[in-house]
Amino acid sequence: MKRYHFSLGDSNDGPVGFCAAVFADTKKQAVEKLRAILPDEQAVEPLDSDEDGEVEYINTYFNPDAVTEADVDKEYEVCPTCHEDRLRTFDTDPPGYECGNCKHTWVGG
Ligand SMILES: [Zn+2]
Repeated sequence: MKRYHFSLGDSNDGPVGFCAAVFADTKKQAVEKLRAILPDEQAVEPLDSDEDGEVEYINTYFNPDAVTEADVDKEYEVCPTCHEDRLRTFDTDPPGYECGNCKHTWVGG
């Protein structure tokens, strides 16, 4: 099992940021899972500081079909025993993993 982190918009660069983390065995499967559960739109509750209710509504919109494997920016190996995760670094990681938390060892995918 792996954990895939998606980054699809950066609020450091623009007004909206969007990220998601999905547990799956493959990147393709993670994309399918995110596409399947992503709503087309989602209302955002204005902060309580809008006391007069002058902000009528805030909606965000998503295009699930546009999410691709290229939107995965980080991939983690997940310990099968305690579910602690660890960032994969493809150039240095050996095929086997040892959990830093529970010391369980397993072979990564
Ligand atoms: Zn562990």
